[in-house]
Parts: sequence; C-alpha cells; structure tokens
Amino acid sequence: MRGVGEEIKSRTADHVPPQKQNKTPVSRSRSKSSLLVHLSFSLSPISRMAEASTEYLKLFVAETTWYNEIVLGSIVPGDAWRRLPHFFQSWLRNFLGGTLVYFLSGFLWCLVIYYWKRNVYVPKEAIPTNHAMYLQIIVAMKAMPWYSALPSISEYMIESGWTRSFATIGEVGWPMYFVNLAVYLVIVEFGIYWMHRELHDIKPLYKWLHATHHIYNKQNTLSPFAGLAFHPLDGILQAVPHVLALFIVPCHFTTHVAAIFCEAVWTANIHDCIHGKVWPVMGAGYHTIHHTTYRHNYGHYTVWMDWMFGTLRDPEEDEHLKKS
Ligand SMILES: [Zn+2]
Ligand SMILES: [Zn+2]
Repeated sequence: MRGVGEEIKSRTADHVPPQKQNKTPVSRSRSKSSLLVHLSFSLSPISRMAEASTEYLKLFVAETTWYNEIVLGSIVPGDAWRRLPHFFQSWLRNFLGGTLVYFLSGFLWCLVIYYWKRNVYVPKEAIPTNHAMYLQIIVAMKAMPWYSALPSISEYMIESGWTRSFATIGEVGWPMYFVNLAVYLVIVEFGIYWMHRELHDIKPLYKWLHATHHIYNKQNTLSPFAGLAFHPLDGILQAVPHVLALFIVPCHFTTHVAAIFCEAVWTANIHDCIHGKVWPVMGAGYHTIHHTTYRHNYGHYTVWMDWMFGTLRDPEEDEHLKKS
C-alpha cells in the first residue's frame, strides 16, 4: 500500500506533460543552479508561464488526492479504488462523504428535536412518522450519486485551471479572502433564489422536477431528511450557483469544497420546522411557509433576496394575523 506522500508525488508526476519529462538535454552531473539557468534560457516566457501554471494546478490535485486518501482510505475496504481514474475517485469520495454528512446531520438533528427535546421545539402531533422520514431518505439516496457529480465536475474544472479558484489563503491575505467569500456567497444566494423561483414559475420544471420536493407540504411531513429529497436534476440545478461563482470571483478551493458540503447540513436545518428568529437568516420558519404557500421565501441563507424581489413572508407576521 502506498503512503499519501508517495501517492501525491506519483499523481503530480502524472500531470507533468510528457514533453517535459526527461527530454531536456541536461547531463546528470549538471548542478541544480546551472539547470535553472539552462531552463530560464531555453524556455520562452510563455513556456515558463505555462510551466508555472502547471505547477500551480498540482496544488489542487494534491489536495483532492489527500481528501480521497483520507475518505476512501478509511471507508472503502481494499485498494481497488486506487485503480480508478482520479475523477472517479473524487466522485466516490464525494458520494460517500455526502452520504455520511446527510445521515449524521439528519439522525443527530432528529434525535435532539424529536426525542431528547421532545415537545419543546416541535409539538408532539407535528412530529413526522418514521415512514415519512424513510421515504425522504429513499428519494435523497436515489439522487445522491447524481448530486455527487456536481462537486466532482467542479473539482475537475478547478484542477484544470478553468476557474478563478486559488489554493491557499496566503496568496490573497485574510482581508481579500473574506471579501471574495462575501461576493461568492452573494452570487450563490442570488443564483439559488432565482433558480428556485424559476423551478416554480416555469410550469414544466415544477411538474417534472421540483414537485418531488413539494410533496412535503405540511409541518408533520417535513423533517431534516427532506433537506436533500429532490429530483436529482432539481438538486443539481439549485447547487449550480456554487460552480458558476467560481468563474466570477476568486474563491479559496477548500472553502468552496466545504461550502458545498455545508449545504447538506443547512438543508437539514431549514426543513426542521423550527423558527429560529435570527435575522436575517432564512431559517426553517420561513422555509416551512415556502412549502405551504409555494409562492414565498425562495431564498437560501438569508431573507434579503425575497425582501428585494417582493416574495418575503414573515412567520411572525403570519402568527400575528392568525391570532387577530
Ligand atoms: Zn420550492
Ligand atoms: Zn424545502
């Protein structure tokens, strides 16, 4: 079995174009400094830039190789996965990682709100049946192999140098890291709002894709497990803004990977029917209204997009109207 270091070395060596492997006429006795001098004279500025960018992209490949080693090396028995092409190793890691996050967050969430704090956050009569949650898990797990393709494709595009992603925070510094992250999140928020809204407004899209998620339209049919219970294409479309953002704003690679995985936890949270009352967070209080009216609260993390585009409906105002 090869170690992580060896694996990374061999993977990164694989990425050096063949014309750059052992073809430079350099004698073995030549010192390292004369080799550098030789390279700087023999390569044109454009080739040197290409060389530098190939070297830079290896950082992304090394990082995804390391993730594959950690996840697949500890979950998948045997070494057969090492023979898969890098893209499929990453897909398998995303599939297993996504499944693990979905079940861990779902079970822990349900344990706390339905059993440990029974009748505290959710009234007893509003707790969904085990069968309802089981059906949501089936829908989510049928879609999971397809969902996993999205981060795998985005990693491939990053490793190929097609996006504006960067590998380490030190390259831009912490202040620019946060500015970039804020812009990334605004693009994601805007993109998910409009993708979600169009999935309602364009009738065939609603009928063939989004209706699968909207069969859970009452409090006692919604649960944290409904968070990923979508038609596969619906789930992918709503996550596409995470990938589009990579072409618009420089985004730290690890942060992008984490942001996609955080979606599995976030969607569990907004389907638990507990109104958190934390402005401007678009919590489950708002999202439950979305499931019951179909016309409000399309947003994802915050209430801002619905507020700006006139579709916001506040759960507290609803309560107030019901009482008066
Ligand atoms: Zn919807
Ligand atoms: Zn929902």
